[in-house]
Amino acid sequence: MKIRSFRLGMLRIPLKTPFKTALRTVEQVEDVVFALETDDGHVGYGSAPATAAITGDTHGSIIDALRAYIGPRLVGGDIAQLNTLVASVQGALQRNTSAKAAAEIALHDLWGQLHGAPLYQLLGGGAPRLETDITISVDSIDKMVADSLDALARGFTSLKVKVGKDMATDIERMRAVHDAVAGRALLRLDANQGWTAREAIHAIRTLEDAGVRMELVEQPVKAHDIDGLREVTANVHTPVMADESAFGPRETIELLRTRAADIVNIKLMKAGGISNALKMADIAAVQGRECMMGCMLESPIGVTAAAHVAVARSATITKIDLDGPSLCTANPVHGTTRFLEAEIVLGDGPGLGIEKIDGIEWLTA
Ligand code: MG
Repeated sequence: MKIRSFRLGMLRIPLKTPFKTALRTVEQVEDVVFALETDDGHVGYGSAPATAAITGDTHGSIIDALRAYIGPRLVGGDIAQLNTLVASVQGALQRNTSAKAAAEIALHDLWGQLHGAPLYQLLGGGAPRLETDITISVDSIDKMVADSLDALARGFTSLKVKVGKDMATDIERMRAVHDAVAGRALLRLDANQGWTAREAIHAIRTLEDAGVRMELVEQPVKAHDIDGLREVTANVHTPVMADESAFGPRETIELLRTRAADIVNIKLMKAGGISNALKMADIAAVQGRECMMGCMLESPIGVTAAAHVAVARSATITKIDLDGPSLCTANPVHGTTRFLEAEIVLGDGPGLGIEKIDGIEWLTA
């Protein structure tokens, strides 16, 4: 199975409601789609969203990296030589982790098709069923409580509550959500870099003292404030998870070894794809730690790939935040993966199990 050509497109899916964090507000999922076509008629799909505030990657930079640097290196490559192709993607240019992720997802989709097996099975296997949390956007307290109760009614038992706007109000937000769902849902708090270390320690301790139980607190301080992150981790009881501070394997080694964080949130778009995501999970496993598998606000193509990685490393990846598809009004990606609100079920289709994608707007060369 040799790669004959590649194509680029855009896939847009409206959200049910705007997605709001301390960093940004988003109205629709808008992904670059990367399709690899083989000489025997197979197509492998990958995708990447623009997350300029997090990765620095824009639609323009993702398209240019794939079109001018990564795609041409893959044409003529043999899918059976997956590791060679992955090395070629990683060596094509510096950074540009989202474009690299899209390319690696498409390569792994074809690798599964070559062997006639779902990707998670080729990566080691596991029970092909995950339970994801759902994001509660940062908003007025009343709206956040209503959204949390709505999520419970839809069957979610784990809520990722976004804060990080203003510390005093954030404490009230979290208390109100906790009181409303008391005992019926696990709470994860994501401050998206919105606090200083001092504020974070105060906020988390105040919540702990008030009896607000949280499974974890995610990225309380700025991405590059590793000393601040370590200070928070050392001074609260609640486990601290690094998200924007932990892009790839290198950061994972340092953050866990120096106890700057207890847990790492793995995302394909930060890691630069599946190969580095697996390394991050394995690094955490060596140190006896756990990980979360997360996603950006992105299409079901990338989320499906993340789900395969999570299943294949389920001993280490014990926390799942793959709610992208359940925030969208529709799923244009047809295949064997089912996103059933809180439950994600991977079918037995080869690779990512994608059969057809509606509404891709193909870009001309
Ligand atoms: Mg986060």
